Amino acid sequence: MTTKPAIQLRDYIRNIPNFPKAGINFKDISPLLADGEAFSECTSELSVNMPKNIDAIVGIESRGFLFGAALAQLTGVGFVPIRKPGKLPAETHAIEYELEYGTDVLEIHRDALNKGHRVVIVDDLLATGGTAAATIQLVEQLGAEVAACLFVIELDFLGGKEKLGNTPIFSLLHYNN
Ligand code: AMP
Repeated sequence: MTTKPAIQLRDYIRNIPNFPKAGINFKDISPLLADGEAFSECTSELSVNMPKNIDAIVGIESRGFLFGAALAQLTGVGFVPIRKPGKLPAETHAIEYELEYGTDVLEIHRDALNKGHRVVIVDDLLATGGTAAATIQLVEQLGAEVAACLFVIELDFLGGKEKLGNTPIFSLLHYNN
């Protein structure tokens, strides 16, 4: 009997140098999404790192939607989107945060979370940590508690984790460039 080799998620992440601008080594998750078994393995590995008693999975636009929604489906927990400004139709709560050049804004529906809810934040990648830190603040401003942040990829050399305070962070893959 032959056993299939275990899936290595790293084999499904493609490096695109100098995208979207010079000096950025873009981690392209397209090959991972395109492979049913690899995507499913990734979702299952995320679920292993998910704390218990979670009321909502919060996904960050846009690639956080892909992994967050898949994880929500697998675990039977509801999904809450965090979106760029002007996309959510009902009343929103917004946060402005610093980028390398300038600022950006993220929004959540005001009624998406309640006081005391325990949530998990999901995104494809942790880089400098600005996006995840803003999302943690947004969730906490609605009175909910962040039990953990889950990422498929963490760029260790950018030290994003330090921006996320005491929030537990789980990343499936770590890169040093
Ligand atoms: P940051 O706020 O710096 O942690 O950036 C995180 C967000 O930017 C994530 O939503 C990622 O999708 C995206 N991102 C940042 N750097 C990269 C990279 N090298 N490759 C792919 N996506 C990236």
